[in-house]
Amino acid sequence: MIDLHDIKKSFGDVHVLKGISLHVDSKEQCVILGSSGSGKSTLLYILGTLDKASSGQILIDQKDLGKMNDEQLALFRNENIGFVFQFHFLLPSITCEQNILLPPRISGKSLAPYKELTEMLAKYLGVTHCLKKYPYQISGGEQQRINIIRALILKPAILLCDEPTGNLDSKNSQKVVSLLKDLSLELGSTLIVVTHDQKVASQFSRKITIEDGQLIS
Ligand code: ADP
Ligand code: MG
Repeated sequence: MIDLHDIKKSFGDVHVLKGISLHVDSKEQCVILGSSGSGKSTLLYILGTLDKASSGQILIDQKDLGKMNDEQLALFRNENIGFVFQFHFLLPSITCEQNILLPPRISGKSLAPYKELTEMLAKYLGVTHCLKKYPYQISGGEQQRINIIRALILKPAILLCDEPTGNLDSKNSQKVVSLLKDLSLELGSTLIVVTHDQKVASQFSRKITIEDGQLIS
């Protein structure tokens, strides 16, 4: 479903990704483990179409992303890819529920079914009481869970998570990873998590290691 062929990425003469090839099946769950600076975020941005590779090919569902223009990529991204990043950016001036409903709003979809899904996911994650509040009125852990709901609201084919547990203690980080796995399974999404945290990685049966811009397992 996701196929990377010899992806390279350089910033000027700094070679960050040095030829990455990877196949991830539809609905698979995997973790990419690597130390800080190994190229994890760069790889995830390229996978998420937020940045372009210097060379190499990315196919998602046999569609060659390199052949899409920016407008096509933006549409593809909104419809197919959910992002959970360590520094979650909920818009401060609207409620959590309105934040969650942004992706369907941007797609011009009718909101009623998404409100229903929001309520279901909020109940599942224990943040029903947060929906009508503004982001500043809830805790960091609650914001993180709202962010996860927003990432999942369009039932993305692919869920990409960059250090999703970066600012959580180990008990909560284990919980968040379990939730990501359970929800991806339930919604039929492919899950890719990148982390430097060995404990997070141990929660996955498929573990890929990145070192200095290359996959080594
Ligand atoms: P990780 O997420 O594994 O910590 P990154 O992918 O963020 O690593 O970064 C890998 C390397 O690429 C680092 O050395 C970083 O400084 C460099 N890098 C990342 N983005 C840029 C950029 N926009 N310009 C220059 N260098 C960058
Ligand atoms: Mg990073």
